Amino acid sequence: MSKEFDVAIIGAGPGGSTAAIKLAEGGKRVALIDKASFPRDKVCGDGLTPDVANQLMKFFPEVYEDFKAKVKFNSKASSIYLSGIEELSFNLSPESESKVNAMARYEFDDILFKHAISKNEVEAFENSPLKSITGSAENWVVEAGDETLYAKYIIGADGANGKTARILTGEGKDMKNYAVAVRCYFEGIEGVSEEKGLEFFMPDYMDSGYFWIFPLGNGKANVGWGLRAELAQKQKVNLRDSLFEIIEKTPEIKARFKEAKALEDPIGFGLPLGGKNLRKIAGPGFLLIGDAAYLIDPVSGEGIGNAIRSARFAAEAILEAKIGDDFQGYKRRIQRKIYPELVFSKYVQKSLENRFIFLRFWKPVLQNPRFKRLLTEDYSLKKLKRKMLNPFYLIGLLIFK
Ligand SMILES: Cc1cc2nc3c(=O)[nH]c(=O)nc-3n(C[C@H](O)[C@H](O)[C@H](O)COP(=O)(O)OP(=O)(O)OC[C@H]3O[C@@H](n4cnc5c(N)ncnc54)[C@H](O)[C@@H]3O)c2cc1C
Repeated sequence: MSKEFDVAIIGAGPGGSTAAIKLAEGGKRVALIDKASFPRDKVCGDGLTPDVANQLMKFFPEVYEDFKAKVKFNSKASSIYLSGIEELSFNLSPESESKVNAMARYEFDDILFKHAISKNEVEAFENSPLKSITGSAENWVVEAGDETLYAKYIIGADGANGKTARILTGEGKDMKNYAVAVRCYFEGIEGVSEEKGLEFFMPDYMDSGYFWIFPLGNGKANVGWGLRAELAQKQKVNLRDSLFEIIEKTPEIKARFKEAKALEDPIGFGLPLGGKNLRKIAGPGFLLIGDAAYLIDPVSGEGIGNAIRSARFAAEAILEAKIGDDFQGYKRRIQRKIYPELVFSKYVQKSLENRFIFLRFWKPVLQNPRFKRLLTEDYSLKKLKRKMLNPFYLIGLLIFK
């Protein structure tokens, strides 16, 4: 095969593999380049919100069928525990076909990657870390591993520590919009169930971030915690040690870990958090997607859904591109379809970190039966966010029960 492609995608995680599938369906020849060999681990909470399943169901039904056949844990809800507040459950509406699931990324990413490379148009280059990108739109030269590849367009999908963004935009990490988190697989945690689903804990002493237990089925669970990088630095937090300290000093959590066994040492990784116009995400002949474009929700830490969404938008932009396209249309689509939610979450995140606002606003709101009913009646995060953007609705939650 010649080493000339329409598109070189750097990174074959959920973003890169999704873009490869979509471009191949549109007839483009794609080089899918990754430094790792699949299946590979990715440090993550492994939580897959309905947004992920819904997008797969709608746009990639074959991938969805594969995912559904392999998933071992189907949550019926998500549970939040805040000290001093009784347990809250986000029950999923019964008619909702997709649920909040969890699947180890070792398995989930491999499903997407295998579907991508099953396409004749896609050639995979594994064990090929990116070395350099030179040239310009229509004539890119990509050096990765031992390969020299030529492409008209570049998609940067190499995640939080990727090199593509730095090479093409000159922008480094933005530590103001960054979080850090650790993950540790456990087995034998008591009380996990599909009824409780994915569990989030925010004990009183935790000023920011949260601790999670995301069950994976077969007695295993992904356990972790994370917070904004600036705070971790300011408070000199050692995330790995403090994972075990949290388990030890939080009675509701400790009781559940009596018989539990850690299956590895905790592993840390970064989360580039989203907001409005934070980054340069496109230019002549290139586009950035997923974590490389800073699209993680600042409150929940979810990034897989937006990695898939931005990959779809990027692939569509390339399929419609004209010579000399600087992909401002892609940028505008991200601004319209993804940024509003990220900006909203950023405000929520800031207000959760403010003790006064947390105690005077969030605590009463979370305890308000009307708000709880909203969560249990319709688990649609989008609808919830829309309501929460309405100041009259918010004030109403402080007054009317
Ligand atoms: C601890 C933690 C918990 C999280 N929990 C959740 C969660 O529960 N739910 C959720 O939705 N999101 C979660 N996230 C966020 C989620 O992991 C990311 O948003 C998601 O992986 C982004 O997908 P991506 O395809 O953009 O990048 P990635 O999944 O990071 O994929 C990037 C790919 O690029 C490759 N790569 C990197 N550098 C190079 C290079 N130089 N050359 C070639 N290839 C390269 C990597 O090997 C990798 O395969 C979590 C993140 C962390 C750190």
